Amino acid sequence: MSLARYKQKRNFKDTPEPEGKVTKAKNKLTFVVQRHHASHLHYDFRLELNGTLKSWAVPKGPSLNPTDKRLAMMVEDHPISYASFEGDIPEGNYGAGHVDVWDHGTYEPVDEKGKVITAAAFTKALKAGSIKFAMKGRKLKGEFALVKLKSDEKSWLLIKHRDKYATDDEYTAEDFARKSSLAYTAKRLAAKKAPLKKATAKKAAPKKTAAKKAAVKKKPTKRVTT
Ligand code: MN
Repeated sequence: MSLARYKQKRNFKDTPEPEGKVTKAKNKLTFVVQRHHASHLHYDFRLELNGTLKSWAVPKGPSLNPTDKRLAMMVEDHPISYASFEGDIPEGNYGAGHVDVWDHGTYEPVDEKGKVITAAAFTKALKAGSIKFAMKGRKLKGEFALVKLKSDEKSWLLIKHRDKYATDDEYTAEDFARKSSLAYTAKRLAAKKAPLKKATAKKAAPKKTAAKKAAVKKKPTKRVTT
């Protein structure tokens, strides 16, 4: 596992995100879900494995309802230290916007029968495109699966397994987001809407006529005097 792609995308002189390094696993494997309002609001689902955080961007966020299949786009591995990152990535940087932790905790990789497996076996399953794991978070609990779609290299589905933590009710991650992050989103959406109204009210600028374009072309070049 390498952080090359993570580092390539970021200028650490300009973003408060951690530069990080590949770290050795401690006792339990950790996970984090970060709510990230970048150009589009999404939830970053990250599982610690082999010294980095395997990462997926989940547009709708995770769900505890087993009938939901949440699209999860695999993104570059992040450093373990990213798990505690919260803050604002400045404009002009990769992923510019607000990040905060939505849930965190530990997880155990499991097999089909729910038996705990080694990190090595889990890595193999990940490469094969189908993993199962038991989560111990504040919000996310019990077994989940991430299954790779055959359509492309990056698309996976995040699915809750039916267990005592599952719900049949509609589940929206936003309902459990912090007030401060919802406030950020409301503010940002309001700012986006305001100039848009003005722009649509204005008449579109007239297109350059062919004659005008020709006139521009005909303009003689200035003679350079030496
Ligand atoms: Mn993100």
